[in-house]
This record gives sequence, C-alpha cells and structure tokens, in this order.
Amino acid sequence: MAYRNSIKEIAVLTDTNLNQGLSQSEAEKRWRRDGANELVEEKKESPIKIFLEQFKDPMVIILIIGAALSVTLGEAMDACIILFVIIMNALIGTGQVLKSEKALAALKQLIHPTCKVIRDGVLTEINSSECVVGDLIEFEAGDCIPCDLRLISTTRLKLDESLLTGESEPAEKNEFFVADGPLGPADQRNMAFMSTYVTSGRGRGIAVHCGMDSEVGKIAALLNKDNNEMTPMQRRMAEMGKMLGLLSVVLCAVMFAVGVIQGKNIFDMLLLAISLAVAAIPEGLPAVVTIVQAMGVTTMSSQNAIVRKLHAVETLGSVSVICSDKTGTLTQNKMNVVSTYSDREFDQPVTKEFLTICALCNNVETRGDTLLGDPSEKALVEFAQRHGIVKQQLECSQIRIDEIPFDSSRKKMSTIHEIGQEKVVYTKGAVDRIINQCTHLLVNGQKVLMSSYDKKCIMEASKIMGQKALRVFALAMKSAHTLREDTLEKDCTFVGLAGMMDPPREEVAEAIETCRKAQIRVVMITGDSPITAYAIGHQLKLVSREEDVMSGDEIDTLNDDQLLQACKRVRIFARVSPEHKVRLVESFKKNGGIVAMTGDGVNDAPALKSADIGIAMGENGSDVCKSASDILLTDDNFKTIVTAVEAGRNIYLKIQKAVYYLLSCNLGEIMTLFLAVLLLPHGVPALCAIQILWVNLVTDAFPALALGVEPDDRHVMEQKPRDPKESLFAHGGYAFVVCNGLYIGTISLVAFKYGLAHSTVMAQTMAFMVLSMSQLFHAMNCRNDKVSMFSIGLFKNKWLILTIVVGLALQVFVCHFPPMNLLLKTMPLALKEWLIVFGLSASTMVINEVSKLFNH
Ligand code: ATP
Repeated sequence: MAYRNSIKEIAVLTDTNLNQGLSQSEAEKRWRRDGANELVEEKKESPIKIFLEQFKDPMVIILIIGAALSVTLGEAMDACIILFVIIMNALIGTGQVLKSEKALAALKQLIHPTCKVIRDGVLTEINSSECVVGDLIEFEAGDCIPCDLRLISTTRLKLDESLLTGESEPAEKNEFFVADGPLGPADQRNMAFMSTYVTSGRGRGIAVHCGMDSEVGKIAALLNKDNNEMTPMQRRMAEMGKMLGLLSVVLCAVMFAVGVIQGKNIFDMLLLAISLAVAAIPEGLPAVVTIVQAMGVTTMSSQNAIVRKLHAVETLGSVSVICSDKTGTLTQNKMNVVSTYSDREFDQPVTKEFLTICALCNNVETRGDTLLGDPSEKALVEFAQRHGIVKQQLECSQIRIDEIPFDSSRKKMSTIHEIGQEKVVYTKGAVDRIINQCTHLLVNGQKVLMSSYDKKCIMEASKIMGQKALRVFALAMKSAHTLREDTLEKDCTFVGLAGMMDPPREEVAEAIETCRKAQIRVVMITGDSPITAYAIGHQLKLVSREEDVMSGDEIDTLNDDQLLQACKRVRIFARVSPEHKVRLVESFKKNGGIVAMTGDGVNDAPALKSADIGIAMGENGSDVCKSASDILLTDDNFKTIVTAVEAGRNIYLKIQKAVYYLLSCNLGEIMTLFLAVLLLPHGVPALCAIQILWVNLVTDAFPALALGVEPDDRHVMEQKPRDPKESLFAHGGYAFVVCNGLYIGTISLVAFKYGLAHSTVMAQTMAFMVLSMSQLFHAMNCRNDKVSMFSIGLFKNKWLILTIVVGLALQVFVCHFPPMNLLLKTMPLALKEWLIVFGLSASTMVINEVSKLFNH
C-alpha cells in the first residue's frame, strides 16, 4: 500500500536514503535475498517432454501400428527397423525444436532492458533485472519503468499505463498525492508501475515492489504470451504439409487397394502403404522453415540487427521502401559545434549568455570527465567548456528549478533557473520555433528589440549553416522576478545560433547505392531542417534536386491523395513530427510499398507499429520505441538495415530451396511406388517398406537442412523486392518440383525394370539405389533453380557436399555389407549395375543443367 504512505514513511519502510539511494553492497544483499526483478516465465519444456511429444504425431502413430503389425506377423526384423526409424525421427524432431528454442532464447538475452539507479549517491545504469526494493530509480520520457515505484519527485510526468489499466490516455503523476483509502492502480497517482512507459516528463521514485510482487507480476500469467507464434510462412508450410500429407495418404490407400485387388500380399501392401505415407508426408516442411529462420536470425544478431518478432524475417525480404532517420542512422551522431552566429556576426567570440545556455539548457550528466546524454547537447556543453564555462560549476550558482522537456513535435526545450531572487528561462531548439517566441535580440550584451530585418538575417544565417550540412540550434533566454507557467517560453531574447557538424556515416552512400540496385526506395525522414537534410542527402547521393525535399509544413497542406503522389517523388521529408511519420508510412503503404521505418523518440512508436517493419535504435532509442519495434539495431546504422534486408531475402531463398527439394523428393518416392504398382500388376513393389523408410531418413532431411545453410546469393540485392503475396512456387517453382519429382520417379522405375530381368531383390536394390542417389544429386540442382551449379560454385556449400558424399557412401555400404543386405533387403551390385545406377542418378543433374542453360 505504498501509495497510502508519505515519501518519508516509504523511505523508512524500504530502509533507503532519499538522496544517496542504497549502497551497492546493500543492493546486492537484497538481490540475493529477493531474487531478480523479473516476471517469471512459464517453465520451459524439458527435452524429454519434447522428445515424447514427437510421438503424438499422427505419422508416428501410423508407424507404430506398422511395427505392431510386423510383430504380430513374426517380422521382428522389420519391426525393429521401423522402431529405429521412429526413434531417429523423434530425435531429429527434438533436436530441431531445441535448436530453434535456443536461438530464440539467445535473442531474448540480447534485449535486456536497463534503467538508471542511484546507488551510493552515484547515478548508474544497471540491467532492470538487478533492481531491488529501496533502489532510487530515475527515468525520463521514453523509458520503461523497471519495477513498481513510489514517486518522490516528478517534472510534468505522464505515464502510459494502458497495459495495466486499459486507459489509452497517459496518466498524470505527482509525488505529493497521498491516498487516504484503498485505490485501484489507475488512481494511484503517486505510483509508477513496472512495464509502463513514460510518455513525457521525468521523475524519480523508490522501488517498492519488484518482479512478481509488482502489479504486472500479479497478472503476469496473462502477459506471458510468448512470441513463438508461427510466422505466416511457417503457417503456410504447415497447412501445405497437411494438405499434401492428406493427398499422400489417399494415394497410399489407393495403392494399397489396387495392390490387394491385384492379389498381392495384404500385409506387405499394408506395410508398404504405411511406409510410403510416412515417407511422402512432408512433415519436415514447417521444421525446415523454423530452423532456417532461427539460424538466419542468429546470424543477423551478430550483424547488429536483433529480430524481436520472427515474422519480420519474412517481411524483410519484401521491403521496398526504407524510411530512415537522419541523425545517428545516416550520420555518425558525433556532434561538434563548428560555427556560431551571435551579435549579428558569424564565428565571433561568443557572449557569456550564449555559453551559459549551452552549458545549462540540457540534460547532460557529468560523471568524472565524461559527459552522458544526447550527442547534440553534449556538443554544446563541450563547446561551453572549451570556452571556460563548466556546467557543474555554473549549476551551483544557477539552480535549476524546472524544465519544459524537449519533444520532437515542439522541437525545443527550456530549463528554468534561480539566480538569487531572479528566475531565468533558457531555451534552445529549432530556429524556426525559437525565433517566433523572441521579441528581442542580444547585441553586444544589450537587449534590443528584434526587427523583421533581424529576423530575416537570423533565418539567412541559419540557412547558410544548413547548407554546410550543419545541425543548427537557436539559443534564447528570458529573465524575470516572477514567471507565469503559460508564458514561460514567450517574449524571449534571441542570443545566437550554434551550428554542429555531424558527418554522414562512411558506409551509408554505398548502402544507398545497394538499395538503388535492389529497387528499394530510400527516404530520409528527419526532424532536422530541410536545408541541413538536403545537404546531407546530397552528400549521400540520395537526392540531387532541392524539389525532392518536402517539409512537415508542406505535408500539412496536402490531402491524402496529394501526399500519395508526393511520396512517389520526394526523397527527403524534413522538419516532420511523429504524426507526419504515421501519415507518410500509410501513404507509402497505399502506394503498394512494404515499408521499413526507423524511430528513436518517445512519439515514434505509432509510426513503427503502422510500418510493415518497425526498426528501433538500440543505442539511442527509447524503451517505448524498442517495445513497438520488430527489429532493433544495436549500432543504429542505416547500413545494418540494408544488411538485414539482404539477410531476409537470402533466408527466403534458402527456405525455398529446401522446400523445393523436399517436395520433389517426396513426389519422386510416390511416383516410383505408385507407378510400379499400376504398371506392373503382377510384380513386387518397386521398393520394400524398409527401404522407403531409409530413404526418408537418410536422403530427405539432411540435404534439406544443408540447403538451408547454402551460402548467401551474391546477386540477391540486384533483384527487385519480392511481392509478399507471391507464392513460394512462383516463377516456375511448381514446374521445377513436379518435373524433377516425375523424373526421379521415372529413372527409379527404369532401374527397377532393368533389375527385374535378374531378380526381385536386384530390381528393388537398383530402384532403391537410384531413388536415393538421384535425390542426393538433385540437392545440387535445388541450390538454385535458375542458375547453373557451376556458376554458383560447385563446392561452395560444404555441408551439402558432405551430406551427399556421406549419403552416397552409406548407399554403397548398405549394398555391400552383408548384415545390411539382410536388414534392408538389398544385394551387392556389380560394376555394370553400379554404372547404370550412377548414370541414371547423375542424369538429374545433367537435365537440370541443360534446362538452366536454355532458361537463362
Ligand atoms: P532525426 O529525426 O533524423 O533523428 P533529428 O534528431 O534532428 O533528426 P529531432 O530529434 O526531432 O530530429 O530534432 C529536430 C530538431 O529539434 C533539431 O533540428 C533541433 O533543432 C531540435 N532539437 C533536437 N534535439 C533537441 C534538444 N535536445 N533540445 C532542444 N532542441 C532540440
């Protein structure tokens, strides 16, 4: 009931110091006693449980029935092999689940939230999980509250508590409120709750409930929705797998019925039908998608792009518009004041007032010799320092009493200070916003009335700085004995302009060029001025004409249709507010684009949510943005976005290869057996049941996985973005799968027919060998369904080569190792037969290469 206690009572109850916070050792002691400040997730399933779950699969149940059948008919050997296959399948399945879970868990680890805490009187940043009861926590707009806090100081604080209360309007908070009766969380105005977000203002609070004791902890079970939801492609594959599975079962039933009518042994036919069903059901489809995606996501995280929602991996490959911030993403965010304008002159020695505003009007914190905070603000503080004005010292004589925080709609901020009896407001921000609040101008230390000519000169000076790609801040001030809240930022005195250099990142121009080749539209959306934005855009070869720049004010004059048209032309949107960003995303989407949008500020979350891919900045982004994003950039770099798109495209291709492979092989298996039954009514099946299961085990799963690690396609960024609605089998995919399936089936039958002239065992052995080996060779074809394997490099995929070599060796082994002959009902082949087997199998590569020659 912390909300019913006064601040002093809370400090006593939690045994903390209101200025110094806890000591580090005390905090560690409490952490060991109470545990981590985390919401306990549902317990993970153990590997044994996952293994056992594999047996729920209808396919496995069918196989178990097959094994039981074999036992009743005295075929103990067959039963053993079927059981072996079942166990192997279950082990592979378990391995796949564990691998993807591990990859996802590793990703969660990367996104650990942090918070600012005062311990031993020093403000430090810690992992939110390390907070303990009694900690003094500081937070500002954009931050996520790490645990339940009793507020002890606030400045215009508003929190988004919709998670807890369902209320979408931010809740106003202040530390003075004390409840005299029980209240629900929505009315506890002196509390800030875990997992809620600061929408504006700043504050400080004492941690009163951590982890599962917090308000959200009480409803944690409801929040425990994990993001292991299937992605659209996984879902599509699962559905397709089911449909094809059903089709195979029907075919198997038909084959069984035909076989029985033809007078074949019922038991043999049943076992064969079961084995074929098991082999033909493409159960590996969703698993391959998951594994390839999970592996891709792991690689992406090592390239600084953390995928928070798995479905983003698929959408990434289709991205056709990238809307990027300027500051920090296209530029280095290493600011330095290189030019000033004051006393109506450029680069004159600046006044004391100029330096004072640089030093005081910001939220930079000093720790030893290092400055922490926003790079532009740090640049101003450093500038003041270089000219002998030290922030910390000045703060002793000019005590800060209030702040009107910066937000990207206002584009300015003010701090209010007390100097003896007098109060001073220092303001800095975008020139066009500051100038309109100024009535006076500081010239040679004197306050003079600002004429419209002065105004024009200032705007011209700011333009000149902007043309040099400088980020410009205007500085203003006002002093009075009493200040009225509603006129704090009015009737100010203009003091000067500070121009900061923020050079473009070196790698960005090349990344923009890559996007041009990949037919991805790059658009800069920035809060900075159109002139500066154009100058940077020009350096990056993003724009060549000033007409390609549009300002937020101009956006406001356009209706939705006009904006739609503008979005086809304009490359830079400058001086935009977060609301503009949402409108722009919608327009790009309406134009048919798949939009990736970056954001860092508190108010960018809606734009990130409405984009197809929301990208948050990991380094300088707010917690709100991070939580609304699909992808997090750990280096805030535009190049990383392009790398992620490339990875997304490659992941799609890898999945496509594996799926093509699995399906053509399954079709080949069905064709071989089905046609043999139909075409040779009085003969034996083309392969016996055990051989089919072997093919399923050895030659299906492993090459498909090896295709999933195929090296990236170098030319993937030379193609246009894929239409997300496009089928995985578009551009001739169906023909590729069906033709190859039919071909594999046909050559296996040819081998079978050849062997029949000698003996049944020979026929089955030859069909078995050709079916399995042709599949292994066919894996090479699937590396690219359009381009010759020689042009992509024969030995580039080491895993695939290994799988093929081991697979081929195993096939030779099961032919020439007598115990395996017994188990798999095979026989040794002579050189001539091997040549036939090899020739037929390898012919899959020859015909694919020839057809690629013509198709290219
Ligand atoms: P981008 O949107 O590309 O990251 P940006 O960082 O310049 O660009 P905003 O942060 O919205 O965009 O800033 C817009 C303008 O607001 C800046 O050009 C500057 O004039 C002003 N501004 C930025 N940060 C501050 C701040 N901390 N205090 C006062 N004014 C600021």
